[in-house]
Amino acid sequence: MRNISEKKRIVIKLGTSTLAHKTGKLNIRRMTNLVRVISDLHNSGRDIIIVSSGAQGLGSGKLGLREKPKDIRMKQAVAAIGQCELMHIYDNMFERYSITVAQILLTKMIINNPNHCSNFKNTIESLVGLGVIPIVNENDAIAIDELELEIGENDSLSALVAELSGADLLLILSDIDGLYTGDPRTDPSAEPITVVEEITPEIEGVAGGAGTTLGTGGMSTKINAAKIATAAGIDMVIMNGRDPELLYDLFEDKEIGTIFKAKKDNEV
Ligand code: GLU
Repeated sequence: MRNISEKKRIVIKLGTSTLAHKTGKLNIRRMTNLVRVISDLHNSGRDIIIVSSGAQGLGSGKLGLREKPKDIRMKQAVAAIGQCELMHIYDNMFERYSITVAQILLTKMIINNPNHCSNFKNTIESLVGLGVIPIVNENDAIAIDELELEIGENDSLSALVAELSGADLLLILSDIDGLYTGDPRTDPSAEPITVVEEITPEIEGVAGGAGTTLGTGGMSTKINAAKIATAAGIDMVIMNGRDPELLYDLFEDKEIGTIFKAKKDNEV
């Protein structure tokens, strides 16, 4: 039995493929619908914290580049441009519903530093208390390590944010419907897995390891996020961000996407 309707503090992770077209330009219809539904969830009394990607994608789009730059210095410059664009868009779109947003940019160094980390928690608490939606991203203009080592991905970051902000649900919106027994794009017999009680080696197996296809490779960072979230006592849901209306169904406890159940001894 799902208990999503009872969740009060939700971290929502939005990936670049949800926010932008392949051109790097904003997906206006998708974003308009998402912001409307998220605003409604917020108005229903839930605390919402967004972890948003898109800085590099929108920055590249704004500069008219055909693809994200490979060079680290250019990546950082593009991210600085795109982050500004990203927040401008969120600010404008949420304003339509009289909701104030705030930007917080994180690096691994901040998370690993106890003082900075406690400042982060306090700021989140204050913002949420003010009825503001904090929007978090990695500080890609600065976080060289993450970019160089290619672990600068927001799935794991969103799980850490969920843990640090005392969320009771992490919701990852992606371009896939959830976890399947195989890769649904290549395997027609692949079946959806609606509930994961425990992340076993079999589950990791169906999610695929690094170096597999785009979809399953993307799934492995989500499994990593699920490990962090569930160990911290937080349920995690992966669902498709294509149709934001489905969020209403999710919060009415309908079977949408895949839920990874929190480990019981740690449940918040
Ligand atoms: N922080 C990156 C950006 O905003 C995205 C990382 C990710 O998509 O996981 O472009």
